[in-house]
Amino acid sequence: MRERKTTKGERIMSIAEHAPPYIRAISPYLPGKPITQLAREMGIPAGKIVKLASNENPLGMSPRARAAMQEAMDGIERYPDQFELTAALASRLGVGTEQIVLGNGSNDVLDLVARVFLAPGRSSVFSRHAFAVYPLATMSAGGECIVVPARHFGHDLDAMRAAIRPDTRIVWIANPNNPTGNFLPGDQVKAFLQSAPKDVVVVLDEAYNEYLPPADRVDTLAWVREFPNLVITRTFSKIHGLAGLRVGYAVTTAEIADLMHRVRQPFNVNNLALAGAIAALDDHAFIAESFEANRRGMDQIIAGLKRLGLEHIPSHGNFITFKAGDAAKVNQALLKQGVIVRPIAGYALPEHLRVTIGLESENASFLAALEKSLEGAR
Ligand SMILES: *Cc1c(COP(=O)(O)O)cnc(C)c1O
Repeated sequence: MRERKTTKGERIMSIAEHAPPYIRAISPYLPGKPITQLAREMGIPAGKIVKLASNENPLGMSPRARAAMQEAMDGIERYPDQFELTAALASRLGVGTEQIVLGNGSNDVLDLVARVFLAPGRSSVFSRHAFAVYPLATMSAGGECIVVPARHFGHDLDAMRAAIRPDTRIVWIANPNNPTGNFLPGDQVKAFLQSAPKDVVVVLDEAYNEYLPPADRVDTLAWVREFPNLVITRTFSKIHGLAGLRVGYAVTTAEIADLMHRVRQPFNVNNLALAGAIAALDDHAFIAESFEANRRGMDQIIAGLKRLGLEHIPSHGNFITFKAGDAAKVNQALLKQGVIVRPIAGYALPEHLRVTIGLESENASFLAALEKSLEGAR
């Protein structure tokens, strides 16, 4: 920071120095590079760019969601009413409406949990390579991050339990995790809940839940009745294809939900988002199609990575993380060819890249560009 002095030579504090140190210590979130930005930087036409960097649904969104949002344009002068989406979720998920908290993306609800339970002098526990929002939410609330070494890139639940301190108030578990794609079987998560202290909130982030094959799915929502310290979060950004709309939700006890409602913005989910989400929830055909396209694309990319002799971390989401060697160099070479993937050095994985499963043609473009990039980088 540049020092400024008065005419008498006294040091003037920069306005930024008046922000609490825990705010100044935050590293900003690095989103996937937008198509428009790469188009500007490289002079590549936007239509020629393949973006597989943000775990977005390559099929777009449910046509029913589109129609519902077009209709909702009519009421846009009114403040939103969360009643209908909350009721639809409660009935679909078999919980009470008082157990649901909606958010402007599930990122918002993660932040609400942090604001309710964390403060300076308190801490949260999460795994190395876990989702980047956990440190952000923790530090924004003034909490301290306890980062636990990973096991095979995934959460080491025993080590995470051992890392819990008397001042710990939240444990964050993404299952499947992003960016590694690791999945913990239900019995392991349940055993963790049984052994974790009851005064620590466990946030089970299930953003990729709908991509799990039926054999891996567990009724985690039923656990909310058993564990009064459990918060489950889900989103409309991933399989529902509504990332730009920003809707997510938490399912928890009425007691925790009540606290989260106190700190949330009264109108944190907009009219279009509410209408789109209600319609998307019922579009089972679109969800099934997205699931199948993901499974096929995953096979296609895994086969391609194997052909190129690249190791990957087995993934249970709509993305796959692979070892690229000099990942920064390979990433640059991909960008030059108009392919955007996600470098994850910020997740302590400097040799890996994460690619989102796209359409068959996008996956093929990615693999062809990757092959060329490796020739240049090796
Ligand atoms: C994408 C993602 C989310 C969801 O973010 P939204 O704010 O709902 O778009 C949450 N958790 C993880 C682990 C994710 O990868």
